[in-house]
Amino acid sequence: MSLIANIIRSEVRDLSAYHVPDSAGFVKLDAMENPYTLSTEMQQALAERLARVGLNRYPVPSYSALKSAIKRQLGVPPDYDLVLGNGSDELISMVSVACAKPGAKVLAPVPGFVMYAMSARLAGMEFVGVPLNADLSLDAAAMLAAIAEHQPAIIYLAYPNNPTGTLYDTADIEAILRAVGDTGVVIVDEAYQPFSPVSFMSRLAEFDNLLVMRTVSKLGLAGIRLGYMTGCPALLNEFEKVRPPYNINVLTEAAAEFMLEQVAVLDAQAAQICQQRSLLAAALAALPGVQVFPSAANFLLIRVPKAEQVFAKLLKQKILVKNVGKMHVLLENCLRITVSTPEENSLFLDAFSASL
Ligand code: PMP
Repeated sequence: MSLIANIIRSEVRDLSAYHVPDSAGFVKLDAMENPYTLSTEMQQALAERLARVGLNRYPVPSYSALKSAIKRQLGVPPDYDLVLGNGSDELISMVSVACAKPGAKVLAPVPGFVMYAMSARLAGMEFVGVPLNADLSLDAAAMLAAIAEHQPAIIYLAYPNNPTGTLYDTADIEAILRAVGDTGVVIVDEAYQPFSPVSFMSRLAEFDNLLVMRTVSKLGLAGIRLGYMTGCPALLNEFEKVRPPYNINVLTEAAAEFMLEQVAVLDAQAAQICQQRSLLAAALAALPGVQVFPSAANFLLIRVPKAEQVFAKLLKQKILVKNVGKMHVLLENCLRITVSTPEENSLFLDAFSASL
């Protein structure tokens, strides 16, 4: 259709829309969601809180109460400001918009989170993917060489990484931060921090080019869409300029404030998920031919002979995992499984063992 060719940029025409399979009626282990729902008492208290929200007014633009709650409950140093996003997906696109000078590049290890590349291309920037080692650890030498060659404006390090669950070595990240200097911003994406023993949040004062990005999605609030980013005040100030006004709606704001008052409930769920992760990893590793990669996130990456067939058999049993085999050569025959409740994990394990 010539209208499309006339008006739509080729970068957009070449993309496929982010695909999410229909999961109604499935045991849903494909999207790293927290499987727990709220107690009836909490649902009622939340409903009462939301009922008091004025829907006729725009949000208060400073979001100061929400930002204070995030700082207090989620371990952001009190002297740092935050930029808020409608999910961290929106933060990624804000960073792209702000940095997309002609010729600017974005660099990240691959396989990694798909939105880094998608957002870069949408903003007209080249994406440089640096392959991980075969054991899915960071190839630090290749990263440093690629940084020297391409001088990227943005470097993303998902810590831990999706879809591998890997934690990169702290010393490698430090070396990258130093090598990049003032030629680029290093975004340490801690989406899976609730399940990880480490964080770069305490290192902000040491590096002017470091931003830490997080989300409440994996903690149990994926539906409300709220991400936050902190770090060097001068950089945050620039990214704040491209934040769409009122991007966090009043219902998200109120629900987040309510849930952060009860963050202990979510923390306890994260601790249970970590326990289940160990049990599930051990059970999977005991099955013949199954390789389980170490994970510091709420999912496990496994390699299994004939992963396509296993995936199809699981689908027939109404169990949805993520088939990542086609994402990258390093992920051949790999499946990514969200760690869930003991009940759902054992449903998965039974169906999985039967499908081998
Ligand atoms: N970063 C990473 C590494 C992710 O895996 C995801 C979601 N899968 C996100 C960011 C986006 O999270 P959200 O937009 O839900 O905040």
